[in-house]
Amino acid sequence: MRDEIANVIIIGSGPAGLTAALYASRAGLAPRLVEGDSPGGQPMTTAMIENFPGFPKGISGVELISRMREQAGRFGAKFLNGQVTRVDFKKKIPAVFIKENQYKAKSVIIATGANPRWLGVPGEDKFKGRGVSVCATCDGFFYRDKVVAVVGGGDSALEEAVFLTRFAKKVVIIHRRDKLRASKLLQERARAQEKIEFFWDTVVEKIKGNKLVEGLELRGTKTGEASSLACSGVFIAIGHEPNTKIFENQLDLDQKGYIKAKSFVETNIEGIFAAGDVADSHFRQAITASATGCMAAMMAEEYLARQ
Ligand code: NAP
Repeated sequence: MRDEIANVIIIGSGPAGLTAALYASRAGLAPRLVEGDSPGGQPMTTAMIENFPGFPKGISGVELISRMREQAGRFGAKFLNGQVTRVDFKKKIPAVFIKENQYKAKSVIIATGANPRWLGVPGEDKFKGRGVSVCATCDGFFYRDKVVAVVGGGDSALEEAVFLTRFAKKVVIIHRRDKLRASKLLQERARAQEKIEFFWDTVVEKIKGNKLVEGLELRGTKTGEASSLACSGVFIAIGHEPNTKIFENQLDLDQKGYIKAKSFVETNIEGIFAAGDVADSHFRQAITASATGCMAAMMAEEYLARQ
């Protein structure tokens, strides 16, 4: 596979990458998909996806990804293990590198998604995996009958908080403002939960503990007053950073580091397309990622036909 020039290489295996693989394989392009270090992307840490059409009772993120992967594979998409560490889009035939191995393709679809953002406060790094988490689905189980905090005021924070009520005896949502960004439905769900308490206009200044997290030092954003919360875990849900480090100096990125895309999926280099969260700081849904994955594959097909 390393000596061939593929029609299309897809980087990333979340909903965008897998949908691109499905469409490209059905178009007879025999796509190669590089799965990355976290195969499946963000849905793998989502307990239940209730807004992906076609699943009226919801579907777990793991199950949705597994089905998408099977569907793309059925039409001939080939999966490559590993992480793309470097790209060269300046040559006539673009190349991507997995470690030192070079793979060439006539077109590339970038679907590398985004990663959770961290607070950057003292104690956060030290207690990662020991009370600090970004995934309630993965770690919520460890907090049975404990007090936990969730930081953020968006859909992710509220979804994590509601999920954690299955285990924790109390869930405190710490938000830096007094208005939530989350959708109305999730707000209603969270507010209806007796176990959930809100700390408004509050930020975390320090995560404290010995071997494990034991509490948080907080500060009121309006009052400036310091306070503390005793808790065994803190879930950070404050948004995401796009995975675009390897595309710096190769593609046009916006101020937040997202790939700049015109006509939804076209980058500034012909034949290089972007799909999903890596080029979308606004919608960031599994369904919109899939939609742009479809568009990118169709645009790649048109591009290849023109060559
Ligand atoms: P988000 O909508 O960007 O919300 C991030 C939250 O974190 C905001 O409330 C923000 O506060 C807060 N925040 C950001 N930086 C902070 C910092 N340094 N310190 C303290 N707080 C900070 O991110 P998200 O909740 O991850 O959602 C991302 C996208 O995925 C959204 O489009 C969302 O609709 C979607 N999503 C959907 C679902 C669902 O439909 N089931 C579930 C999860 C996510 P401010 O409000 O003050 O800016």
